[in-house]
Amino acid sequence: MFLSIATTHRPATDLGYLLHKHPERVHETELGFGKAFVFYPEATDARCEAALVLDIDPVGLVRGRGSSDGLLDQYVNDRPYAASSFLSVALARTLRTAMGGTSKERPELALAAIPLDVAVTPLPARGGERLVRDLFEPLGWTVEVEAIEGIGSQAGHGSRYVSLRLRGEARLSALLNHLYVLIPVLDDGKHYWVGEDEISKLLSHGEGWLETHPAKELIVQRYLKHRRVLANMALARLAPETEDEEAAPERRDAPEEALERPIRLNDARMDAVIDALRASGAKSVADLGCGEGKLLARLMRERWAERLIGVDASARELERAVKRLKLHESGGPPEGRITLLHGALTYRDKRIAGVDAAALVEVIEHLDPDRLPSLARALFREARPGTVVVTTPNAEYNALFPDLAKGAFRHPDHRFEWTRRQFRDWVRSIETAFGYRAELRDIGHVNEELGSPTQMAVFTR
Ligand code: SAH
Repeated sequence: MFLSIATTHRPATDLGYLLHKHPERVHETELGFGKAFVFYPEATDARCEAALVLDIDPVGLVRGRGSSDGLLDQYVNDRPYAASSFLSVALARTLRTAMGGTSKERPELALAAIPLDVAVTPLPARGGERLVRDLFEPLGWTVEVEAIEGIGSQAGHGSRYVSLRLRGEARLSALLNHLYVLIPVLDDGKHYWVGEDEISKLLSHGEGWLETHPAKELIVQRYLKHRRVLANMALARLAPETEDEEAAPERRDAPEEALERPIRLNDARMDAVIDALRASGAKSVADLGCGEGKLLARLMRERWAERLIGVDASARELERAVKRLKLHESGGPPEGRITLLHGALTYRDKRIAGVDAAALVEVIEHLDPDRLPSLARALFREARPGTVVVTTPNAEYNALFPDLAKGAFRHPDHRFEWTRRQFRDWVRSIETAFGYRAELRDIGHVNEELGSPTQMAVFTR
């Protein structure tokens, strides 16, 4: 499988900054099922071309797997197919930062549309040339498709492979996200997915284009329909985010809870959030990133909270919330009072439109900072609840946790922990951008110099 991306933006070698791969070197990434190589066949100021080549190791792919079924044989035999199926994984692993649309050295360029000339081959195309066009043309690409005869049909599926060329002006990250989603869609029925997190992955990679795509339904159906047990096994170890969760679901919260337990921070936080929500006069509340439902369980005891919605990207956490809240059990809440939704907070979600208030309790620090603007837009511009309560750790206070190493985060999944200043700056930027007013509050014991362990903002409009 070969993917090449060329640009004539000047200086074209800036492509190296956008991809985070230096044009003068060959970059090798071990993927568990083989290797990905990124190198530059051409690197001048006028034109620069980066190539991603996958070398699938069929032995590595099946190593450690006891049993074999028909699918496994296909994996080993149908190498062109296998390679194409793995390209999305390889993209996410080798070009993750570029896919996220950020670049340390060229931040503006990462956000700019640049001329791109792209080749992918061999690409499985179930649905033929027509479908390839229907998928890529609405996204603004000029599409050339050429059939490749003679491979891919040995499995008896009549599968067809094509060479695809895309030309157009686009952000590099947009291109990578289009490929990430649409290659498996074209490889319909042959790709494998890790499972429950796929909905939020699709929404996140599809952000900004999938929603308005005329073939949206087909894309979503094909992307999510085919779940293969073997594939789940083969890929569990390839997706670091899910791997952590799978390996140690019980351990995930432990470190943070252990740190904060002596100061009973969780109770103080819940109390503060509930006080703010109650005072807002809200009758409906969305708990965004509700996790296992601790806040919802407390809110259930509040008479004023007539309608509660919990949203989380992790189906595993939601399952725990179902148990904790005794949903659909006798003695549980009346049908319709609590709704749990599987969703991504960085994507507009009509299901939470119209709620009076929203809470984000210890959630924002779990998102990559470059995803925060999407979250802010989805929440403050699209859903626009009258009140939003946000809590997050105060990094300055960490110095007072005896068991926390200097500079460490309270939880391994935290992407950042903010000082009071950083949080305030973010809060102010939301006020200005979306027309809210915010009040900042301390939660927990207040140290004169370092502040409180948790910081909270209550936004109203
Ligand atoms: N609010 C809960 C859980 C906090 S942990 C509590 O206070 O106990 C953070 C939660 O946010 C996790 O359950 C995680 O699955 C969820 N989360 C992180 N990023 C998300 C995203 N982009 N969309 C939806 N949920 C997300």
